[in-house]
Amino acid sequence: MLMQGKTAIVTGASRGIGAAVAKKLASMGASIAVVYANNRDAAEEICRQCAEEYGVRAASYACDVSDFAQAAETVKLIRRDFGNIHMLVNNAGVTRDGLVAAMGEADFDRVLDVNLKGAFNMIRHCARAFLVAREGAIVNISSVSGLMGNAGQANYSASKAGLIGLTKSVARELASRGVRCNAVAPGFIRTDMTGELNEASNRLAQSIPLGRFGAPEDVAEAVAYLMGADYVTGEVLRVDGGIAM
Ligand code: NAP
Repeated sequence: MLMQGKTAIVTGASRGIGAAVAKKLASMGASIAVVYANNRDAAEEICRQCAEEYGVRAASYACDVSDFAQAAETVKLIRRDFGNIHMLVNNAGVTRDGLVAAMGEADFDRVLDVNLKGAFNMIRHCARAFLVAREGAIVNISSVSGLMGNAGQANYSASKAGLIGLTKSVARELASRGVRCNAVAPGFIRTDMTGELNEASNRLAQSIPLGRFGAPEDVAEAVAYLMGADYVTGEVLRVDGGIAM
């Protein structure tokens, strides 16, 4: 699918899965707004790669997506710079792992605020533009932890399960105006978030039916598919090597 003339916002696109998604959509011709939290140099580098390798417009925006006002201001700036927005990928996410019996309130709140409320904030501030244009596609990056649960990740699993409910409600609410909303649920993907997936995690890799950890590009392929899948909404697409089937 060609995306010339379309603009995509990708949150958490300075690194990992978000960076791969930004580059994939750029390779298909989309202009890219890279949203990041702190890592300005990395975000600028992704923009440079999108522009030089694929000849698209790309710009970066520092924004804590958990902050309603900052998210609003960022969407406003992106619309000023790019005009209409056509795609939104809610990928920014954090972990603060710990056993539930000892988990601090701040760790629970921060993970819910970034992973779930952050996606709500961005959808909330893009929704009107999508509705007026009668066009738009949203992909939320959930996780198999949101489908299966995961010991030590009560906060993270709750945020990712919440994203699935958010996805389906938004899909139902916006469908009549031609706006779609889907989710991708990755399994174990090699990024900074998963850290060193090596010797200690060999047993884990063996428990994955396809026998390997995923790459950010595996998730990016699924996001690109959902962006172009005109008759698919409210779907949760696992990209997990089969671990959660
Ligand atoms: P990562 O390498 O840790 O990158 C996280 C990205 O999110 C960075 O770009 C970071 O920006 C940004 N970010 C963090 N907090 C933010 C905030 N408050 N506002 C805006 N941006 C923020 O993570 P990843 O592994 O690529 O994961 C990306 C998404 O996939 C997350 O939602 C994660 O939960 C999900 N996921 C990952 C895996 C996996 O195995 N890796 C599996 C399932 C789901 P800075 O660079 O500026 O800090």
